[in-house]
Amino acid sequence: MKILFAASEAVPFCKTGGLADVAGSLPQALAKAGNEVEVIVPLYQCVMDKWKEQLTFVCHIEVPLGWRRIYCGLFSLEREGVTWYFVDNEYYFKRAALYGHYDDGERFGFFSRAIVALLPSLAFMPEVIHCNDWQTALVPVYLKDECVRWSAVRSIKTVFTIHNIEYQGRYGKETLEDLFGLAPGWFADGTIAMDGDVNMLKGALMVCDAITAVSPTYAQELRQPFFAHGLESVLQRNAGKLYGVLNGLDMARYDPTTDKGITANFGGAPVKSGKGAVQEDTITAGKAKNKEHLQQEMGLDVNPGVPVIGIISRLVSHKGLDLVCSVFDQIMDLNCQFVVLGSGDWNYERFFEEKLGFYKGRMALYRGYNESLAMDIYAGADLLLMPSRSEPCGLAQMMAMRYATVPIVRETGGLKDTVHPYEAWSGAGNGFTFAGYNSGDMLYVIRQAVDLYFNNPTAFKQLRKAGMAEDFSWGRSAEAYNEIYRKICS
Ligand code: ADP
Repeated sequence: MKILFAASEAVPFCKTGGLADVAGSLPQALAKAGNEVEVIVPLYQCVMDKWKEQLTFVCHIEVPLGWRRIYCGLFSLEREGVTWYFVDNEYYFKRAALYGHYDDGERFGFFSRAIVALLPSLAFMPEVIHCNDWQTALVPVYLKDECVRWSAVRSIKTVFTIHNIEYQGRYGKETLEDLFGLAPGWFADGTIAMDGDVNMLKGALMVCDAITAVSPTYAQELRQPFFAHGLESVLQRNAGKLYGVLNGLDMARYDPTTDKGITANFGGAPVKSGKGAVQEDTITAGKAKNKEHLQQEMGLDVNPGVPVIGIISRLVSHKGLDLVCSVFDQIMDLNCQFVVLGSGDWNYERFFEEKLGFYKGRMALYRGYNESLAMDIYAGADLLLMPSRSEPCGLAQMMAMRYATVPIVRETGGLKDTVHPYEAWSGAGNGFTFAGYNSGDMLYVIRQAVDLYFNNPTAFKQLRKAGMAEDFSWGRSAEAYNEIYRKICS
């Protein structure tokens, strides 16, 4: 199929969050699965600096937006089987930060309008345009608006993926005609209207052919007010076209058998030791070496016999840190070590900082963002704690499992879809989970996990192996999206 993927950021060109990872990996996986794929992103200042020598000028056009005619240049680049397009307008995109400007609505209104206007200039006319988050939410609306007069775009289908429903592109009613160039009917019939304002995200949800959320459980949760930030009734009304597709992980980059960033590789085929004997157990030996390195690096007592519990997270309330704080001393009573990597709300940072003094040699904290330390924790810890209040997909639990660290998670969003609870009687599962958002339930499963570590190493190792065996590849996600594309085009 011919797919155009539209996003406001994509790795390796520009990144502020998880959307960039998806837009940087999924298109390649879709191309590998046999599709023709184009991606379109804004030509930000940061893209220019790094990649400008490789860009080819394609054309320039004037984009009509309300009463204005705005310059729009188009550049392209071929990369890993995908054609990348960059939309150029220095007034809108030559700025230091990607978002957070007073005119973000106008900037991404222009970007969305430009995508539709540029369709005849691309290598092919897509069968599906796959849009992501509010910055491209007007694409399905403009497409519907245009198809009345423009037969060439009439058959194009649209998929809209919700990565973060909190940001909706909400602006005053007066922007509809003046800024976005849409007829009053779009507001009057409620398509793009929400609580008296223009709501771009609502517009996309109403008119696109399929809505996807970044995990099946999140797709269910989005029908509830707690998760939907006011759009629950819109999602309930459109539930028939709502799907959940789990994000993937770059399995080649994050591979414990080859990763040069960790102390000892593990998990591959058995290797011959120096004396010619086959070393069967690369996981146990590899994890032990990585753990020793982590304990030294973080100033913990070097002790191979105690479980290390890790947290790698933004320290914000929806990550469930209030649960951790309320039973922290009981967790530390369990003869374990505890490592925290992250930064965020001052109350959590201060809490963990204060606890350092009580648990010298048993607890460590790194305040800030540190990718190399994150990898050392994934490789060296035994357990990773993620008690999130909400988690659309979650990457850390997948990373942990890939590196044989057993996750302890709350059953929400993508955590529920990727971590399956350990069943002592059958040995099934790949981690530990709890459902209710309360510290007692969390403490109960942490105790279970630590108990298994001490008293049943064979079962604990089986859990490590089960996590490592999970397929979190983008190929699996691409297959799920392919099925949705086929369905809406049939
Ligand atoms: P979210 O996108 O809500 O922050 P995810 O679990 O989906 O949560 O993704 C977080 C990603 O960022 C993970 O890959 C995790 O390893 C990484 N990460 C989070 N905090 C830090 C940090 N302080 N240093 C390094 N990496 C971090």
